[in-house]
Amino acid sequence: MQTIRKQMIGLLEKEEMSAREISQAVRIREKEVYEHLAHIGRTVNTKRKKLVITPSQCLECGYVFKDRKRYTRPGRCPHCKIERISNPTYRILSF
Ligand SMILES: [Zn+2]
Repeated sequence: MQTIRKQMIGLLEKEEMSAREISQAVRIREKEVYEHLAHIGRTVNTKRKKLVITPSQCLECGYVFKDRKRYTRPGRCPHCKIERISNPTYRILSF
């Protein structure tokens, strides 16, 4: 558990990744990636670091889900009701 989070933090400090890329890199299911991301988001922010999310975007109208608090990809666009939504990506920045 702890080592997976450490691995994820190590990866995200080096590059921006989507949940799918993380799941392949640390060999866990995508669903578990979101659970770990939620935990990392709470813990990492205390140490001069920040988990930054590049939000999902509607590929049809360009709407950006920037107020979304959850880490998962939204189901559909609130404007055009279409399910073509880009995957959010994650990155850990140090200050
Ligand atoms: Zn849209």
